[in-house]
Amino acid sequence: MTEPIIRIDNIVKRYGPLTVLDGLSMEVMPGEKLALIGPSGSGKTTILRILMTLETISEGFIQIDGEQLYHMKKAGSLVPADERHLHRMREKIGMVFQHFNLFPHKCVLDNITLAPMLTKGMDRAAAEKRGMELLDMVGLADKAKSMPAQLSGGQKQRVAIARALALSPKIMLFDEVTSALDPELVEEVLSVMRKLAAETDMTMLLVTHEMGFAHDFADRVLFFDRGKIVEEGKPGDIFRHPKQERTQIFLRKII
Ligand code: ADP
Repeated sequence: MTEPIIRIDNIVKRYGPLTVLDGLSMEVMPGEKLALIGPSGSGKTTILRILMTLETISEGFIQIDGEQLYHMKKAGSLVPADERHLHRMREKIGMVFQHFNLFPHKCVLDNITLAPMLTKGMDRAAAEKRGMELLDMVGLADKAKSMPAQLSGGQKQRVAIARALALSPKIMLFDEVTSALDPELVEEVLSVMRKLAAETDMTMLLVTHEMGFAHDFADRVLFFDRGKIVEEGKPGDIFRHPKQERTQIFLRKII
């Protein structure tokens, strides 16, 4: 039987006195495309940031690709994972942020080749060959030598997607990747993501307010409210026949 590629078990995340996630559990199967929806502040982004090890957890366990993320068992007790372990785990995951986060003083191609050269020790020629393939995939091969400031928001976001793919992650996390874009630039980014979903077997987790896209893209939709999964199911079921009142109210407001 196939094992989940992500297993989140009873995690608690606190920021000071604020409990953001309160005993959250969820599993994601390899290749699954998941949409996380729900009101602002319900903890969706926090989950992605925890998976990316940008945030730690207060309690619970997370397993990625068969290995514990934050804690490792040692002589029967649990100890925090060391940096080397986290570094290795991070390579399994690529993340694309709302605000692109490109290196402003590096050209587009360098933005993509930097991580594979530094973290995987790839030589420049191989990294650039792969970088150009990725730029081609996102439709920006002609912008390889441009600086980020010369690109539109949609183009920057497509570069950010190519950069996240450069380390060949098994899992891709997309955090509201179109919400900082002008409306006319949203579609070019969504179409790259559609292509990725159709052409690769990567596991993809998407936090989004684009309900139409979530419907078409996801195999499964999770509705979050106040740090909990209130309801989950196939997009057709969640969007057309939400069972929980909180889901109904949210969808009525947003659609
Ligand atoms: P969502 O993505 O669903 O909008 P978030 O995961 O961004 O929600 O945030 C969940 C809650 O955690 C919010 O109440 C937010 O204010 C809080 N929060 C997020 N990051 C921090 C932080 N670094 N420090 C304190 N509180 C935070």
